[in-house]
Amino acid sequence: MNDYKKQDALLLFSGGQDSTTCLYWAKQQFANLHALCIAYGQRHAQEVENARRIAQTARIPFRLLHADTIPRLAPNSLTDASLPVDDEIAPGTYPNTFVPGRNLLFLTCAATLARAQGIRHLVIGVSEADYSGYPDCREAFIRSACTTLSLAMDHPFEIHTPLMWRSKKEVWQLADELGVFDIVRNETLTCYNGLPADGCGHCPACRLRRRGLQEYLAERSLRP
Ligand code: ZN
Repeated sequence: MNDYKKQDALLLFSGGQDSTTCLYWAKQQFANLHALCIAYGQRHAQEVENARRIAQTARIPFRLLHADTIPRLAPNSLTDASLPVDDEIAPGTYPNTFVPGRNLLFLTCAATLARAQGIRHLVIGVSEADYSGYPDCREAFIRSACTTLSLAMDHPFEIHTPLMWRSKKEVWQLADELGVFDIVRNETLTCYNGLPADGCGHCPACRLRRRGLQEYLAERSLRP
């Protein structure tokens, strides 16, 4: 038993499968949870409204911040509808769904808001396992960012990454353990084409999500 139950946390929240699972995880771990959604110029405005609705259902205070600097500096397929989402990825490169600087900007915004509210715990749904290998989803980056933000703001942040070493299958399992499998399956929006729940079914995000879901459902049906 830790003393987190007496402390508040701020969650970076997008309304996707991962951050929604984190929302319910953090709701159990901390006394009070706050959700920060950052609109960074992503193509699908309904992502934000979807996130707001999920937070409302979970009775978590929701705050929206507009920070669309990144797409003005570097194009990527999540913010620029004229760029098709990369399907095949050449070895040694990143897909054009990688938004350089995004998680660092997000964490900086979250830390600034958290500090102003006397909060030291940040939660973010990044994962190093079974994903596209984005550098700002790795544990080394998160640790480094935590040190930097704590030094920059003279505030002892802790960054929690409950999904860091979980595969997509294990993220579904966590949602099930938290009793929110149906909410995560039906209410979240992960699809790069902006379709909620099971999504378009063919974009890279949908395929990853579906594969994990199928693996998890197969495993669950084998249990006694
Ligand atoms: Zn899709």
